[in-house]
Amino acid sequence: MRSPASLALHGGTPVRSSLLPYGRQKIDEDDLRAVQEVLQSDWLTTGPTVDAFEAAVAELVGAAHGVAVTNGTAALHCAMHALGIGPGDEVIVPTMTFAASANCAVFQGATPVFADVDPETLLLDPEQVRRLLTPRTRAVVAVDYAGQPCDYDALRAVTEPAGIPIVADGCHALGGSYQGVPVGSAADLTVFSFHPVKHLTTGEGGMITTANAEWARRMRVFRNHGITTDHRQRSEKGSWFYEMVDLGYNYRLTDIQCALGLSQLRKQRDWVRRRQEIAAHYDRELAEIPAVSPLTRRPGVSHAYHLYVVLLESERLAVPRGEVFAALRAEGIGVNVHYVPVHLHPFYRDRFGTRPGLCPVAEAAYERMLSLPMFPTMSDRDVEDVLAAVRKVSDAYTSF
Ligand SMILES: *Cc1c(COP(=O)(O)O)cnc(C)c1O
Repeated sequence: MRSPASLALHGGTPVRSSLLPYGRQKIDEDDLRAVQEVLQSDWLTTGPTVDAFEAAVAELVGAAHGVAVTNGTAALHCAMHALGIGPGDEVIVPTMTFAASANCAVFQGATPVFADVDPETLLLDPEQVRRLLTPRTRAVVAVDYAGQPCDYDALRAVTEPAGIPIVADGCHALGGSYQGVPVGSAADLTVFSFHPVKHLTTGEGGMITTANAEWARRMRVFRNHGITTDHRQRSEKGSWFYEMVDLGYNYRLTDIQCALGLSQLRKQRDWVRRRQEIAAHYDRELAEIPAVSPLTRRPGVSHAYHLYVVLLESERLAVPRGEVFAALRAEGIGVNVHYVPVHLHPFYRDRFGTRPGLCPVAEAAYERMLSLPMFPTMSDRDVEDVLAAVRKVSDAYTSF
């Protein structure tokens, strides 16, 4: 038992002198060369590198179509549009996620219906989905939280009889799989983000993958102002004529960004493997620390570990989560919290009347959760630092 006075928070020596972030991108010389090549080419946007990146991601995840867009949020919006979701419709979404997973329904004038999550995995609970289905339900957004794929068989058993499509928010899960099926082809539509903290980056970027050619076509039109031909198609045909057939947006990803994405994609498999290796190490060592419990990994999944989330065993701790968080930060460990349950945000309370108590499992987990640093270029030494800090803080604050 160490005394709280040894903690950096109370003037002790920190485990690390510089903060280890919870996530971080890696850019190498190949990435720089790939971007420079496109910058010096004819096409900065809507060019061949967009097609190449779409094809490469679609191939990686076993999907027929990939549609590249400006970010993961735009990808969610496109998915809602593809499904024709609009005013009066309901979209079931887990509350334990980033706000964009629900916001996309609101963009289309629909109502997000917040579902609670499984206490062990924090994944969308299929029984909750069953309970929340109404004649107005038009889609389910299944979030592969932390990088663990949802239980798609159980979800489909609920949604298929009602003819309701599943949109996977796979922003945490590129490189993961469910029963051998890659995230990206396990749901009707899957959405990815290429923000720097995600599995690979284009700066900002996103993609939707699907087997459905008509949905892919609708999303390509939607990302380009609702216009049926793009700049390159008109240029190739030598034509000026175009028609806007729908209200769309400018959600186009540039060739510059796609060049970066393509180059990053070559490292993707190794990066996921390294994330899994770090997670296995955390699992082993944290089993000896009574104050924290990792989330449960279900059999039959390959977890892509965008996040490594632990729940604090609050009854063993003499202090609240806020103090554990501050103590770990003071030790130089960039812990984080993912997420404030979306239904608790003021926007949703004001606009949709959501309240505490709506999703008790997620609300209780939120009070206890911490994300530990997790990114592929963490060194073994970094991983040891995280564990040393968790041990130190746990020792100082555990009360038996
Ligand atoms: C990152 C993320 C998004 C949004 O992606 P952006 O590219 O930042 O717009 C959506 N859903 C989840 C679960 C995410 O983690």
